[in-house]
Amino acid sequence: MRVDGKVALITGGARGIGRTIALKLAEAGADVAVLDVNLEASEETAAEIRALGRKAMALKADVTSLAEADEAVKKVVAELGGLHILVNNAGITRDGLILRMKEEDWDLVLNVNLKGAFNYIKSSVRVMGKQRNGAIINIASIVGEMGNAGQANYSASKAGLIGLTKTVAREFASRNIRSNAIAPGFIQTAMTDALPDDAREKLAAQIPLGSLGTVDDVANGVLFLASDASAYITGHVLSINGGMKM
Ligand code: NDP
Repeated sequence: MRVDGKVALITGGARGIGRTIALKLAEAGADVAVLDVNLEASEETAAEIRALGRKAMALKADVTSLAEADEAVKKVVAELGGLHILVNNAGITRDGLILRMKEEDWDLVLNVNLKGAFNYIKSSVRVMGKQRNGAIINIASIVGEMGNAGQANYSASKAGLIGLTKTVAREFASRNIRSNAIAPGFIQTAMTDALPDDAREKLAAQIPLGSLGTVDDVANGVLFLASDASAYITGHVLSINGGMKM
């Protein structure tokens, strides 16, 4: 699976799953723009990409702003010569049961996780359409498919992302822009590392494959959906969850 000659933009690419996706796409031949609210961490990821021999740029933007999205996409095209792969990865949680959930926590999570993806899709499809080539990958979640007590805002944003993915697939298929989502289950990250051992064991017991996933498991799925190996796949939600939901 190669993405040679392609330019990729990863939102929330400075750390966590986004960083691994950025490095994976670079290893497979792409030049990569790393976009995040945290410029310093984005610069570090961009430096790692350059060390792999690929072009990289770091961008500071808040995905909730459409104006910043337009600006960022313009910069990527000007500096890296196009935009072929968009990964909407930036995402946050503000958990709480509905009766206690604050209105601003609902709004913020929907704005970052769902409107953020809309903003970058809207800003990117013109460029991708002109090229007659594009792959959009939205990082959803198993929680968007199953629901989760305490995550009304997060699960709604991720379910919304799945609907958005399918609509984009239908609207832009004629321009050879594919749109797919990935629904990771529980992935080993700083968040899950912070869980006590017994909580992690309980979690793993619900997973047929017996362990939490890795950031590489998710990035491998992104590479597949970004590459021509998935040229006939659009509007799909790829579960990467160890069989937790099937
Ligand atoms: P992290 O919090 O480790 O990384 C998310 C990145 O996005 C951070 O660098 C963060 O910056 C950045 N970010 C947050 N808000 C914005 C914003 N408004 N604009 C631009 N960048 C922003 O998350 P993960 O790597 O764990 O998760 C990545 C994606 O995968 C998310 O969409 C998440 O919902 C999804 N996911 C994760 C799972 C898991 O088990 N970890 C499971 C299922 C899905 P900063 O650190 O400065 O806030």
